[in-house]
Amino acid sequence: MSTWVTRWVNGEPRDLKVVGDEPIAVATWRAPRRALQNDACANCGAHRHYGSGPIRENYDGPLICSGCGLTDRQDQELHVRYALKHGSGDFLQAARTAERHGRKVMALKLATAGFHYGEEPEQARQLRTQLLREIGLEQLADEEDSIQETRPILVDAPPQRPEHPSGPTIKRAQLRLVDNDPLGAGTIALEALEDEQQRDQALEILADVAGRLTEDEPEEVVNLLNAASPYSHQTPNLCFALARAEYARRKYSACRRWLLHTRRLAPTHREALELLDTVEEMMNIASTTKLFPF
Ligand SMILES: [Zn+2]
Repeated sequence: MSTWVTRWVNGEPRDLKVVGDEPIAVATWRAPRRALQNDACANCGAHRHYGSGPIRENYDGPLICSGCGLTDRQDQELHVRYALKHGSGDFLQAARTAERHGRKVMALKLATAGFHYGEEPEQARQLRTQLLREIGLEQLADEEDSIQETRPILVDAPPQRPEHPSGPTIKRAQLRLVDNDPLGAGTIALEALEDEQQRDQALEILADVAGRLTEDEPEEVVNLLNAASPYSHQTPNLCFALARAEYARRKYSACRRWLLHTRRLAPTHREALELLDTVEEMMNIASTTKLFPF
C-alpha cells in the first residue's frame, strides 16, 4: 500500500510515492519557486514573453512562458487537469485534497493556479504561503508576504489571428499537394516560412506533407522538418511528426526525444503521450507517463 510524502530531493522539494519509508517513485511535477507575480506562469512562476524570436510588430500570437514554454491557456488547462484528478474543478479545494494526500508540491501548484486563475485569489495566496512554509521554503514565503500581491489583472485573450488570404507560394504548394507531389509541396512550403503572413499555412502544409510521407519516406520528413526549423521545432504537431518519422526509421531514442519535446510544448498531446508509452516500453525504460499515476 503506497502513500505520498513531500521530501527534499537534490535540493528541491518533490512529492514522493512511498511504501512504508521506502520511496518508489518521484512525481514529475515541480514546485513553482519564483516569487508570486501578477500574470506570471503558475507552472514555474516565470513571466511570459513573445516566443523565442525578437518581438515583432503587431504580434498577435500567444505569449509563451520564458521558463517552461507554456502559454497561459496551456498553463491553466494543465492545472485544471491536475485539479480534476484531485476530485474538484476548484483549485483551492483540489489543493487542500492534494495536501491531505501528502502531495504538498502538487498542493502548492494548485494553490498557485488558484491565485492566477481561481475565484478566490487571496485565499489561494494564503494557502500558498502556508504550504511554502510547510515544505521548507520559508524565505520565499516571507518575501511574498512582504509583497502582498493582489488579484492579477486579467488580460484579454489575444485577438483571433485574421485569416490571411493564401499567398502565391502557398498556392503553388497547395497545387503540388493536389497533384499528389507531397515532397514538392513541402519544398515550396519551406520558401513561405520566412513570410510571416504565410508561415502558419506553410506549417500546416508541412504537417500534411509529413503525414503523407512518414510511412514510406521518413528520411525525407526528417530532412524537410529540420529544414523548417526553428518554426517546426516550436510547433507541437511538427515535433510529433518528427517523432513519428524517427519511429518509422526505428530510431527510438531520437523518437523519444521529440516526444518529450512535444510534451513540453503541449502537455496534453494525446497521440504523443501514447507513442511515448509505446516507445519507452520498446526501449525497456521506465515509463515517464505511467510511472506516476494519481
Ligand atoms: Zn512557466
